[in-house]
Amino acid sequence: MIQTRGLAYRYPGGALLRFPDVDVPQGTVLLLSGPSGCGKSTWLALVAALVPPTEGTLQVAGQALDALKNSAADAWRARAVGFLPQKLHLSAALSVQQNLAMAQWASGVAQDPVRIRDALTKLGVAELATRLPSQLSGGQAQRVALARAVLLQPQVILADEPTGSLDDAAAADAVHLLLVTAQTQGATLVIATHDARVARLIPPKLHGQNGFQPLYLKG
Ligand code: ADP
Ligand code: MG
Repeated sequence: MIQTRGLAYRYPGGALLRFPDVDVPQGTVLLLSGPSGCGKSTWLALVAALVPPTEGTLQVAGQALDALKNSAADAWRARAVGFLPQKLHLSAALSVQQNLAMAQWASGVAQDPVRIRDALTKLGVAELATRLPSQLSGGQAQRVALARAVLLQPQVILADEPTGSLDDAAAADAVHLLLVTAQTQGATLVIATHDARVARLIPPKLHGQNGFQPLYLKG
């Protein structure tokens, strides 16, 4: 779940960005949209406890984030949040499999090749395990980054512009994979995007079950 109240953030020297209150029940989908520069990536950074709010409070996966200080925020994020960043940040010198192993290492959990294999298999990229990121297509790289994001079965999955550089078919694939992965894990999913294609890719049945809500930021 994600709950925000009176949330606002100011970059040094910038204007105060204010965000509408939201309640996103566990296991549901939030589509965060709006034009470039309206604050979508900033909102994700707040929800991931990467930055503290200038104003307001938020609860994410049962945790009040204002109660978390630096190292506690890092530990919480590693456990609770799966982040699919806009720029994927796969390490160029490491294979797909090693990139996932590094994510386990960075999160302080034991190396677990079986779990890595399982995550790659679920996302249909197990056969790419020994490739370098430079040997992957855009869609494949994104599947790998998503496998890495959900490796520790986070309660919240945050995807920043997941369709940005993808053609229509790969974009449809990416949105479908995010929805299926979140649903399989019972995770709350946030897709932040300025891409109008994404709203059309959310299946109508999700709308009907209160499993989905849009949040439009005007900026
Ligand atoms: P979006 O993801 O919707 O495109 P962002 O959250 O990246 O929007 O940015 C929101 C606003 O904050 C924009 O006006 C942007 O220029 C500004 N901004 C983003 N990052 C920084 C930063 N590191 N320092 C100062 N201003 C920033
Ligand atoms: Mg952004």
